[in-house]
Amino acid sequence: MKKIAILGSTGSIGTQALDICRRHPDRYRVTALTARGSREKLFEQVREFRPEMAGLTEGIDPAEIPEDLKFCRWMTGQEALHAAAAEVEADKVLVSIVGIAGLRSVMDALGAGRQVLLANKEALVTGGHLVTDLAKKIGKPLLPVDSEHSAIFQCLQSAGGNRAEKILLTASGGPFRKWEKERIEKATPAEALKHPNWNMGAKITVDSASMFNKGLEIMEARWLFDMPEDRIEVVVHPESIVHSAVVFRDGAVLAQLGLPDMRVPIGYAMSYPERLETGVAEPDLFALGSLTFEKPDEKKFPALRLAREALRAGGAACTVFNGANEEAVAAFLREEIAFGEIARRVENAMEKLSGLPADNLEEILDADRRARELVRC
Ligand code: MG
Repeated sequence: MKKIAILGSTGSIGTQALDICRRHPDRYRVTALTARGSREKLFEQVREFRPEMAGLTEGIDPAEIPEDLKFCRWMTGQEALHAAAAEVEADKVLVSIVGIAGLRSVMDALGAGRQVLLANKEALVTGGHLVTDLAKKIGKPLLPVDSEHSAIFQCLQSAGGNRAEKILLTASGGPFRKWEKERIEKATPAEALKHPNWNMGAKITVDSASMFNKGLEIMEARWLFDMPEDRIEVVVHPESIVHSAVVFRDGAVLAQLGLPDMRVPIGYAMSYPERLETGVAEPDLFALGSLTFEKPDEKKFPALRLAREALRAGGAACTVFNGANEEAVAAFLREEIAFGEIARRVENAMEKLSGLPADNLEEILDADRRARELVRC
């Protein structure tokens, strides 16, 4: 029986992780659940899974906690995240909160010697050097939940210690793959929110449309697999069946295939090195018939070029890339800026804030703050 703490339990990843816990009550005991503000949903989860601790980071008046849920310790704010990551008993901590807050939680969990199941991109993007060092120190590898990185991780499990020469990071291409540059420039939030294959939150869906998500994933792969950016190739694969692949020196390519369903990577991170029944069917290859692959168009999607520039620049450049993008996406969703303006704001922030250090959490949070301020005004 493994004890698991879930940070961000009411989001898309968190609810699917709980679905796996529900299928395997003999294997997982949920010890902590946290959410930002979805209190009704969290109440339901606490009622069902009966964790020792529950947290609402946005805060809650103790009088609002239902009588029957008072068996568990309720916490709020940053303290709730810290307790769930590092204090409550747990073998595994699933970090599926969104944003740079994830970095602190991942560091807390690793600092407490726990295995981290990583569904938060920002921790690696902004503090990849810090978290990979910590994970190495405690001898518990970070288990990626992002579907592409899970695929790469799965392929490497059968490599018998051979290092990959190259990573092929697949991308759906998003809803604007076939659009002209001018049309993409003026795309609306409603258009950006129509993802062809995956059902995700608004921010990440916009990031998929702009390919900023793939830029962030190049950064994740760089740290998770200790691979320089020039050996991480983005391959547009609209069917989202091949979730990524690795190339070995003998020319062999290993890929992981499956339906686009996050329960597979979540389940694998939860049960690694075993595999569990997840309720996900195998892809019907005969119905699919063919799989297609294209080179990404970096003129239409400048995010990929900017991500590589940020990785080469080092320091806090990836933090600036991430913070600036997040603010620009928020402004786009409020219909204050055009879709094409997102990348321009990010590039501008990277130019204005070049050379910032990222040697510790404080410096990283400071770079993040400065990038956001710059984009906001
Ligand atoms: Mg992904």
